[in-house]
Amino acid sequence: MTFEALGLRKEVLQSIKELGYLEPTPIQEQAIPHLLQEESDFVGLAQTGTGKTAAFGLPLLSRIEPGQLFPTAVIICPTRELCLQISNDLKIFGKYLNASVVSVYGGVDIKKQITDIKKGVDIIVATPGRLMDLMNRKVIKLNEIEFVVLDEADEMLNMGFKEDIDDILKYTPVTKSVWLFSATMPKEVANIAANYMSDPLEISIGHKNQGNENIHHIYYLVYEKDRYPALKRLIDFNPDIYGLIFCRTKNETANVAQKLSRDGYNAEPLHGDLSQAMRDMVMSRFRSKEVQLLVATDVAARGIDVDSISHVIHYNLPDDIENYTHRSGRTARAGKKGESLCLLTQKELFKVKGIERQIRMDFTKGVIPNAQEICQVQLKKLVEKVTSTSIREKEIQPFLPDMFSHFQELTKEEVIKLFVSAEFNRFIEYYERAGDLNASERAEKGMSSKADRFGERGKGERRRDENKTRFFVNLGKRDGLNVGGLLRVVCDATGLKSGNVGRIDIMASFSFFDTDNEHVDKVLKKLNGAQFEGHTINVEVSAGGKGGGSSAPRRSGGDRKFGGGDRKFGGGERRSAAGNRKPGSKEFNKKRR
Ligand code: AMP
Repeated sequence: MTFEALGLRKEVLQSIKELGYLEPTPIQEQAIPHLLQEESDFVGLAQTGTGKTAAFGLPLLSRIEPGQLFPTAVIICPTRELCLQISNDLKIFGKYLNASVVSVYGGVDIKKQITDIKKGVDIIVATPGRLMDLMNRKVIKLNEIEFVVLDEADEMLNMGFKEDIDDILKYTPVTKSVWLFSATMPKEVANIAANYMSDPLEISIGHKNQGNENIHHIYYLVYEKDRYPALKRLIDFNPDIYGLIFCRTKNETANVAQKLSRDGYNAEPLHGDLSQAMRDMVMSRFRSKEVQLLVATDVAARGIDVDSISHVIHYNLPDDIENYTHRSGRTARAGKKGESLCLLTQKELFKVKGIERQIRMDFTKGVIPNAQEICQVQLKKLVEKVTSTSIREKEIQPFLPDMFSHFQELTKEEVIKLFVSAEFNRFIEYYERAGDLNASERAEKGMSSKADRFGERGKGERRRDENKTRFFVNLGKRDGLNVGGLLRVVCDATGLKSGNVGRIDIMASFSFFDTDNEHVDKVLKKLNGAQFEGHTINVEVSAGGKGGGSSAPRRSGGDRKFGGGDRKFGGGERRSAAGNRKPGSKEFNKKRR
């Protein structure tokens, strides 16, 4: 299906062509033809990140006549963030139409907004409270309005805007079309549809209330006292993480952000006690990836609309289970994959079931990675960084003779060892003293999720087994390797049966697999040097060694480049976790832990 075939007007087609949208997303494909028709009340159940804004924005822009004396459409959404996001998108979609789009939201001076509206506006994007305020001041009149879009309706109701929405809708003419979008469909949202819409077309991308299938949900069982060290390990195991860490309260948010920052991570807090200007600054730094980890409360993070967030970490689960969907929906946007990682104590374990029911997806039980696994990932990162560095021959030439003279007595191996140690000793020292952070799970009646089963390749819990050896392979997803591919190449090269190969974890640029200890020699001898799609395989016993299956679950951290190629890998007094900080930043120069 193409955008042309959907019937959008040519000016709109031109701008989406420039944006590089090649084909409509499922919600766009289903919604747009209907929304282009005259009688078009509509309910769209779709997660954030599915292309909702274009699903309503493109048909809206195709149907309005810009330049009227009054606004033709009003889009109501829960937060200022989302308001700005939507109005920016609409301005881009509508740039060849000269449609005037104004966003109005609370927390800023109302006068400028009044001036903007008085200049003439085609589309208003508003939060409910500020819209009511402007209606009460008679600056905005909705009696001629043709389209009302309610975006993230469930969020607006969660945030207590029900009365405002009722009031706003009462002031609109009966002839209007109402287009409602929501991630979930609680009965309050169904009531809006019943009360204000006539026979709406209802489209659901996935099941009602279903979570985004590109999100891998993993929980980790820890003791309360280990929550913070466990968080650090998850971050260290994912050196390219671009993440959102959710806490339950403002205090906890401030606390965790402060500790992370003190420990040398590139993290900032976002919560309601910060001034609007401060929150704007933090958001803008997070958006531009100057900040790698945003630690936020549910309320402050509402409406955060940042693509390519790789991980959402629930430092604590939300009190209200519904919020889990909203939190985890911040990752895996626009068809990308993402991970939602929950740190839980035994007491909180029962909540997993409730969430699984709500999102209709299973959790995997993860294992907090151990010191060797983290060191291995970090070292690998260091090697990648060093080997991909471009050499500026001309600039370094004057320094080389002196440099070479320092190392001339040393072998290549010794030089490598020295460089690695200089970068890495602190990291190793920190983790040397670090024990196992996984809490043991008491038998829990009724826990029948995937989390309970193990032995499945590529998912489920892993347990340490002294009879197994874990191998490290130099190829990963980036090289086209997947579970089946690795299994095939291992079996072909070594003659082992697939049943002899245990747990497999395919990471971005390397992988792990287990076999029984008796096969170690054979694997090392036969698999080393074997070929996979033009790549030569290099295999070694994993740093974790015996006790296979102990590395943390599938992760996609290495798939993303964080902040371009300007990262430095730790070193000296700095934190050694590669890529978690920016060179030159305050954090970058902080002492590690
Ligand atoms: P939304 O759900 O509206 O927040 O959209 C999520 C992201 O998907 C945004 O970055 C959009 O620019 C992008 N997007 C929306 N529709 C398409 C499309 N048809 N093709 C490619 N990207 C899209």
